Amino acid sequence: MNSLPLSELMAADRQHVWHPYTAMPNDLPMFAVKSAQGVYLELEDGRRLIDGVSSWWTCIHGYNHPRLNQAAQEQMGKMAHVMFGGLTHQPAVQLAQKLVEMTPAPLQNVFFSDSGSVSVEVAMKLAVQYWHNRSKPGKHKFLTIRKGYHGDTFATMSVCDPVGGMHHLFGDRLAPQFFADAPQIPFHGTWDDSDIASFEQLLIAHHDEIAAAIFEPIVQNAGGMRFYHPEYLRRAKQLCEDHGVLLILDEIATGFGRSGELFACSHAGISPDIMCVGKALTGGFMSLAATLTTTHISETFAQGEAGVFMHGPTFMGNPLACAVSLANLALLESYDWQGTVRKIEMQLRNELEPCRSLAAVKDVRVLGAIGVVELHEAVDMAIVQPMFVEQGIWLRPFGKLIYTMPPYIIQTKELRRLTQGICQVASQITLKSPD
Ligand SMILES: *Cc1c(COP(=O)(O)O)cnc(C)c1O
Repeated sequence: MNSLPLSELMAADRQHVWHPYTAMPNDLPMFAVKSAQGVYLELEDGRRLIDGVSSWWTCIHGYNHPRLNQAAQEQMGKMAHVMFGGLTHQPAVQLAQKLVEMTPAPLQNVFFSDSGSVSVEVAMKLAVQYWHNRSKPGKHKFLTIRKGYHGDTFATMSVCDPVGGMHHLFGDRLAPQFFADAPQIPFHGTWDDSDIASFEQLLIAHHDEIAAAIFEPIVQNAGGMRFYHPEYLRRAKQLCEDHGVLLILDEIATGFGRSGELFACSHAGISPDIMCVGKALTGGFMSLAATLTTTHISETFAQGEAGVFMHGPTFMGNPLACAVSLANLALLESYDWQGTVRKIEMQLRNELEPCRSLAAVKDVRVLGAIGVVELHEAVDMAIVQPMFVEQGIWLRPFGKLIYTMPPYIIQTKELRRLTQGICQVASQITLKSPD
C-alpha cells in the first residue's frame, strides 16, 4: 500500500470517511496516526502523543507489543480465519478455557462474537430465550439503570441511558425497557438502602415481564464515568434472585483489571448469570468479545422450542483474534497487574486531586486505572482536542468529562504528563455561567 500525501489523506478522510459520532463532512479536528509503539501514537506529521485512553479501554499493554505480534504471526501462518459452524480449533477452545478460569466460578460457557455490542445482544437474546425455554415467554423485557452504556445497536441502545442515548430520535424502533434511577452513592461513600429503592420497586412491579437486569458493574463508563457503591451490586444481585430475574453484567470496559479487580463484580463479591467481555480482551490488537453463561442457563436450550440458541456470527471465534487474546491474557497473568493498577490509581489520585480547586471543575474521582475530572460545563472538542495534542498527549473528553484510562505499562513520568495536561486544560477553561 502506497501512502497518500498528508493533505490528500486528510481531504479524502473528510470527504468520504465516517468517524464515530460525527457528521459528514466532519469539521472537527482530525489527526492521522502513522504507527504506534508502547504508550505512544506516532502521527503522520511526526509528533508523538502519549495515549491516555488506551484506544478506548483496549490496549492495556500498549501498542505493537512483541508478544501479541508474535502470537498473531504464528497464527497467521496456520489460518487467519475458519468458520465456526461444525469446526473448532485450538485458539478458541483454549481461550474459552482461560475465560472460564479467570471469571467467577458459575460462568462455564463461552459464546464468542466480534464486538462488545454484539456480545450484549447475545446476552439479551440468551436471557429472553432462556425464559422461553422455561415456558415463561412473557419475561422478555429488561431492567437497567440510568446513565448506562451498552453499545450502539438497537437492542443495546434500548438499555443505554434514554437521555444520553437520545432515544426519542428512534421513535418506536427501540424496545421499551425499565429504567431504575442511577446509583448516587459513590464507590467510597456511605451506603444507604434508598439508593436501590427505585430498582427494587421496578422489580417488584414488573418481574413477570423482566427477563434480566442488565448494567455495568461498579463503573458506568461512556454514560457518565461514574463509580458507584459495591453494596448496590450486592443488593441488586439478591433482588434479582428473590424475584426470579437473571443478572447480566456488562464488563466490556471494566474487565481485565481496569477497576482494580480482574472483573469489577469482584468489588462486591458477586457473580452474574451472564457476563459480557470485550475491549481489552485482545489487548487492543483487534475486535473480539465474548458472552459467558452458567450451565443453569445453557442447559435449558436443548429442551426449548428451537432446541438451540438462535445466534451464530460469521466470524465467530476468529482464530487470529483468539490467539492474540490468549497471548494478551497470558501477559496479564505474567506480572503483578493488580499492583501496577494500584500504583496508577495512587498517582492519578495524587495528581488529579489538585484540579478540584479549579473554578471549572465539579468533581475529581479515581478508581483503579481510571481518572475522571468532571467539569461544570461541556467542553468544546474543537478547542480542547488540539490543546491536548499540543501538549503531546491524547485524551478524548466527552461532554463535561475529561478522563484517562492509560495502558497499564505507562511509566510514572508519562502518566504525570497526562495528569499535568488534564490539570492545565481544566485550568484554562473559563466558565460561561459559574454556578
Ligand atoms: C464499549 C462498550 C460497549 C460496546 O462495545 P463495542 O465493541 O463498541 O460494540 C458495550 N458496553 C460497554 C460497557 C462498553 O464500554
